[in-house]
Amino acid sequence: MSDSVPGPVSRTTRAVRVGGVTIGGGHPVAIQSMTNTDTAEPVATAIQVRQLAEAGSELVRITVNSEEAAAAVPRIREEMERMGVTVPLVGDFHFNGHKLLEQEPACGEALDKFRINPGNVGRGVRRDDNFARFIEHACHFDRPVRIGVNWGSLDPTVLERLMDANAARPEPLPPEAVMRDAVVTSAVESAARAEELGLGGDRIILSCKMSGVQDLIAVYRDLASRCDYPLHLGLTEAGMGTKGIVASTTALSVLLQEGIGDTIRISLTPEPGEPRTKEVEVARQILQSLELRNFAPAVVACPGCGRTTSTYFQELARDIEAYMGERMPQWRQEYPGVEGMTVAVMGCVVNGPGESRHADIGISLPGTGETPVAPVYEDGEKTVTLKGERIAEEFQQRLEAYVHYRFGDR
Ligand code: SF4
Repeated sequence: MSDSVPGPVSRTTRAVRVGGVTIGGGHPVAIQSMTNTDTAEPVATAIQVRQLAEAGSELVRITVNSEEAAAAVPRIREEMERMGVTVPLVGDFHFNGHKLLEQEPACGEALDKFRINPGNVGRGVRRDDNFARFIEHACHFDRPVRIGVNWGSLDPTVLERLMDANAARPEPLPPEAVMRDAVVTSAVESAARAEELGLGGDRIILSCKMSGVQDLIAVYRDLASRCDYPLHLGLTEAGMGTKGIVASTTALSVLLQEGIGDTIRISLTPEPGEPRTKEVEVARQILQSLELRNFAPAVVACPGCGRTTSTYFQELARDIEAYMGERMPQWRQEYPGVEGMTVAVMGCVVNGPGESRHADIGISLPGTGETPVAPVYEDGEKTVTLKGERIAEEFQQRLEAYVHYRFGDR
């Protein structure tokens, strides 16, 4: 990272323990995901939890929306144990969460965290009562709670109160500003109420999910200034494909750069046939791009231009990335720190040597009309020049030797 470009700032929050993962308190931003199986089907759900965990999800949320789902949660935990999966499991409860935890106490025991949306636990007195009962269960099971306000299901009493107060101002704020304020106020007041009911301040995580990028940024900036709870970050209903990825990345990057966000989820709608794990992959890439975390070595490849008339360098970049993906499970064990390595694959002599020197290891391939040789740079120094038909294979061997030399026990 350049000295002139400040990196992400850090925000001081309480630390909340969720199973074996600590959220906030200066710990790395954790990645969360959510299953889309029927929770009442324990085997299918446990298999998807394992897939998400293997992809890198550090917390997995499952919906607990019915008696059948609540009854299946201990079975899901058993299946996970059988498969050796230890990722913390978060139960997403709805209007009947307090009842389900009463009826199925084993469900509460099997979960590492509960999530409640104060906007959909009922209205008026019943809302207060249901919320209180839910929090009492969390205290009983000694589980942390994410109080997750959702734009689409905001507690109407909070909104009404703030709208009335706004109307009485000499210069009322625009309605959207009041709505954003209502989302944050609902979260902060619900957290204060949970603490009054006995839930520890170190057992609370907040979220205020919005579907618009600018709304999300504004709301989280406000929320971060009004509390020191860890914050779960995500753009809700981000959408499918490129649109969902870009919208989520845009919103989360702004906030993470400001130190706002302690766990993240990318709420993508998978394309037909697309794996559920895509959201985890995107979350990892956001955190790694912001240099908040390193998960896998990065390949720096030039975009290609008129100087490259073949796709050779693109194929090499792709093959090297695939090779590192295959080798990472073993490298991670044997070579601590390898996940921060950068490998440059450049298409010609114009920018190739410079970029390759900046990477840990890099290769500058010959462009159109250039001498068919490919200098390799390691730690900024040219170490060898490859030529002939086996450049790709020989570069892979150099890479393997470099990893061993640089990250192995010496
Ligand atoms: S490194 Fe060479 S081939 Fe790649 S984009 Fe730059 S000028 Fe084009």
